[in-house]
Amino acid sequence: MSLAGLMQRQSLLISDLLAHAATYHGDVEIVSHLHAGEVRRSNWRTVAHRAAQLAHALPTLGVAQGDRVATLAWNSDRHLELYYAVAGTGAVLHTVNPRLFPEQIAYILGHAADGVVFFDLDFADLLVKMAPQLTGVKRFVALCRADQLPTLDLPHLVSYESLIEGLPQQYDWPDLDEATASSMCYTSGTTGNPKGVLYSHRSTVLHSFALCAADGMALSARDSVLLAVPMFHVNAWGVPYAAAMCGAKLVLPGSGLSGERLYAHMVNEACTFSLGVPTVWLGFFQYIDQQGVALDLRALRLQRVVVGGSAAPRALIEKFEEKLGVFVIQSWGMTETSPVSTVVSLLPKHAGQALSDRFAVQSRQGRAIFGVEVAVFGADGQRLPHDGKSVGEIRVRGPWVLCAYYGNAPDSALDAQGWFSTGDVAYIDPDGFVQITDRSKDVIKSGGEWISSIDLENAAVGHPSVREAAVIGVPHSKWQERPLLIVVLKPGETLTGPQMMEFLTDRVVRWWLPDDVVFVDELPHTATGKLLKTRLREQFRDHRLPTDVA
Ligand code: ADP
Repeated sequence: MSLAGLMQRQSLLISDLLAHAATYHGDVEIVSHLHAGEVRRSNWRTVAHRAAQLAHALPTLGVAQGDRVATLAWNSDRHLELYYAVAGTGAVLHTVNPRLFPEQIAYILGHAADGVVFFDLDFADLLVKMAPQLTGVKRFVALCRADQLPTLDLPHLVSYESLIEGLPQQYDWPDLDEATASSMCYTSGTTGNPKGVLYSHRSTVLHSFALCAADGMALSARDSVLLAVPMFHVNAWGVPYAAAMCGAKLVLPGSGLSGERLYAHMVNEACTFSLGVPTVWLGFFQYIDQQGVALDLRALRLQRVVVGGSAAPRALIEKFEEKLGVFVIQSWGMTETSPVSTVVSLLPKHAGQALSDRFAVQSRQGRAIFGVEVAVFGADGQRLPHDGKSVGEIRVRGPWVLCAYYGNAPDSALDAQGWFSTGDVAYIDPDGFVQITDRSKDVIKSGGEWISSIDLENAAVGHPSVREAAVIGVPHSKWQERPLLIVVLKPGETLTGPQMMEFLTDRVVRWWLPDDVVFVDELPHTATGKLLKTRLREQFRDHRLPTDVA
């Protein structure tokens, strides 16, 4: 019989993260860029006080334990206070992506049965228009002061500041079971209805440890973090929680993610660390390139940048390193995995390596961090070896991977061995580095072989005139599908199809070369800034490839 350990059985709770930050890092700043240019400078102690006030206010809005509370909000200190107050009391914070279509937002609010919506004034008109559909929502709280509150046709509307004003700045946070739900996010649902993922206190705290670990993101008290990923995108990848665990400074940029704004925040707040999707960083470098010598890049203190959500193009990794001396930490994950699952962190063998070799390592999605088991399975369900060439679907399991979507029976998202199938296609090399080649629905099936759209896109954006590129499979009478490359050029640049093809010739294997290149002004993106390939496939459904002579 096993022997029970004699260690304390203390639950892993989100309220303890905030209590720790307030006690040991109380003066560390939380800087918010709000509506209409307003800047607020808070700190972890004040966030804790105001989260306590909000916790006292929640029952007055009818919020009880287990209830879902929605936000439609940018990154700000008030949103951070909601993260802690709602979860800390035992309710569930549901961060809604305001860039979704209104029908999807209405669906999500209804599905989650949110009774209260906290919103930034930017979304006031949207909510007023949607209000007749939001029958379950009983109360609306605008994230502003009383004097900023406009007259809006919304039931029981109140301003955030008047809601919490005068309430006690201490709260006796309940000793919840660590398995209690704390927050929820919906997948963006590019196919079918969005699905809810329900995180727990335990999964959130464990995920935070991983972000602070040296081979995770090495987030620490010495970091000033520019949160360039929205707090509605998978809890800003868990950083609002991990920052409290380690006492990092947070710079919350509101809605402004333009290259110019991000650059200014980084300089003004001495940011050492940032994170965001590739599109955000493309805009960042567009600004830097446009400004040229007018910018004194030495004013930047930036050291590390996490790029995730889509594959980080090698050209982006090179730019960060060569222009700014910044190390790109590529990370892979998804809403269903909290999200961080694999992270690029170097091994002893990479020390002293030539930069070009190191860029190749950083262009992969990284290795599994402890807490997420990552494996690749073939079409026959067999686990594939880490040989750097066996391509199959990634499955994951671990304490911050979901077991079921919200509303479904526990474990219903898992196979018999407890694996969750991600829908991503990859191989794993002998060092454990994952290389995502595609999402299973985006892979191009040419004559029984697979072509990676991601590899082709990365090669194309390596051309100095290219701003963004997408590759989709279009029907071909002989090969079933062949790649079509769709390119957006940088302003003022010119490039022809044959020049693009010539550039790609040395960079990808011959039979992967796209059968056609088209130039467009812009590409469609999902609500989280990823290429919307379903839309592109529709748009180019009837595109006739010049190679298709049948
Ligand atoms: P959605 O894209 O539906 O909004 P998520 O934000 O959860 O949902 O996206 C998860 C997906 O994003 C992953 O399954 C994967 O396809 C893609 N992804 C995330 N990070 C990376 C990365 N570093 N490289 C390639 N693909 C990535």
